[in-house]
Amino acid sequence: MKRAAIYLRVSTSEQLNGTSIDGQKAACLGLAASEGAQVVGCYSEDASGALYTARPALMEALASIERGEADVLIAFKIDRLGRSARIIRDVVDRIVAADATVLTTDYKLDKSAMGTLMLNMLGSFAEMEKDGILERTKGGSLRRAQSGVQPQRSRVAFGYHVVTNPDKQRGLYPESAPGTYVLDPQKAQVMGEAFRMYDGGASLRSVAKWLQGTCSPSRGSAWYASTLRALLSNPIFKGQASYGRHKKITKEKGNTTISRMVLTGNAVIIPCPAIVDAALWDRVQIRLSEARQTFSGNPARKHLLSGLLRCPLCARSMKGTRRTIKETTYHYYSCPHSRPSRSISGTVCNPKLLDAHVAESLILHGIGDIVSRPEVLREALDAYRRMEMVVFDPASIASAEAALRALDARETATVTAQVQGIQAGANPAVYGSAFAKIAEERTTLTKRLNELKTQQKSFASERLDDATLMTAALRDATTALSSPYLTDGERHDLLARVVEKVIPEEVEGETGYRVFLRSDAETVHITQPMRQPVAL
Ligand SMILES: [Zn+2]
Repeated sequence: MKRAAIYLRVSTSEQLNGTSIDGQKAACLGLAASEGAQVVGCYSEDASGALYTARPALMEALASIERGEADVLIAFKIDRLGRSARIIRDVVDRIVAADATVLTTDYKLDKSAMGTLMLNMLGSFAEMEKDGILERTKGGSLRRAQSGVQPQRSRVAFGYHVVTNPDKQRGLYPESAPGTYVLDPQKAQVMGEAFRMYDGGASLRSVAKWLQGTCSPSRGSAWYASTLRALLSNPIFKGQASYGRHKKITKEKGNTTISRMVLTGNAVIIPCPAIVDAALWDRVQIRLSEARQTFSGNPARKHLLSGLLRCPLCARSMKGTRRTIKETTYHYYSCPHSRPSRSISGTVCNPKLLDAHVAESLILHGIGDIVSRPEVLREALDAYRRMEMVVFDPASIASAEAALRALDARETATVTAQVQGIQAGANPAVYGSAFAKIAEERTTLTKRLNELKTQQKSFASERLDDATLMTAALRDATTALSSPYLTDGERHDLLARVVEKVIPEEVEGETGYRVFLRSDAETVHITQPMRQPVAL
């Protein structure tokens, strides 16, 4: 008498499709009876894992067959064994190797070439079916998202709640349909305040500290600067929730499955109540992107020029390093790719080490010098403006206007030609492309002309007196920088408020530094070459 091991499997996405464990079991018992086999074991599980080795019931069923306790594995359908042709073949091969056989309602083991072909085909169907299920659920979610309903309701940004079906059953949020965003009034207020604090100049670290004393985060127990950064850059707070902003990437490595989330870039925007206005949100994004380079790092171990000093070859931020050898501390800056061991590709960019003491004192001295002689700054600004004026040529407006007039003339000529041509019996369609080309040229020219006019306007308008503003900011900074009561981090952040970047350059065999000052007028960057001895 044959002995049968029954294997039952149902995955969560299928429970509604009538392939319940009980239904499968009834069918399998029927198969065993029709074969006249005695059921010696029944293994069932509720799993949809990609790896069959991660399905314990299947592994047990296979083990019992391999121990010779059963001669046939019975399952409802061949796709119960796995959701890919490769896995199904693997499982069937193991059964065949143990001198046993497989029986399902749609397949009976047949070792002929035809049987193998059949097995592969069934496996392929299983794969298609699996992909179909994914497609259908995703399609449904996507349609719901496009109609303004959030299909994904479990992870919601701090300050919001997405109305769920259980909420409706409990009679909560009678005004809102499931899948719509509602504010958590207290958390929303806290989040709004966090945005305003950061916009007002507070650091991520200090806002996170304030949050820690105010309320607990959605997940975990502590607020970190990184958590806050991720929140502040989420467009949900300006009223743009999204679906599909991230995609899960799954890779199989040995016996483990590794998943990570990546940004997709084609999210569906779902409108939601805004916590901050768009202008505030945008300002915060600008500050976040600027601060990332310059203000990150441990304030207790910060180098004065970190994030400011750039490698002259690759423009990466040079790193400050302190090293004590035989009681002497060496302090220098170097390109992050100064050694092959430091770069991923193993290449060396700029092996030169800059003496940090010399660099820092030169730059501080240089700034102090500008403060004591404001006319230097004024001259530099004027020079910068003259440079900008060259870029903007008033004659370019005249020539763009002339080109537009010429285009008008060409259009009139083409119209006349078309009228005459049609009267003479030509096909009107032949003029279509000529008109399309004229329209295209007009769009380009008009756009260029508008750009030029905007430039002209900004040059004509009265600007703030940048030199006065800069001198005042620099004077405050130098006074504060010389204070012995500042930590390294505070000194660095203070300097970073007035200096945008510093680029070392070789001048007559000596290392000089070109300092780009950060201006209140935002667009003005002045370069200030310095060499040793400092001469402006
Ligand atoms: Zn470099």
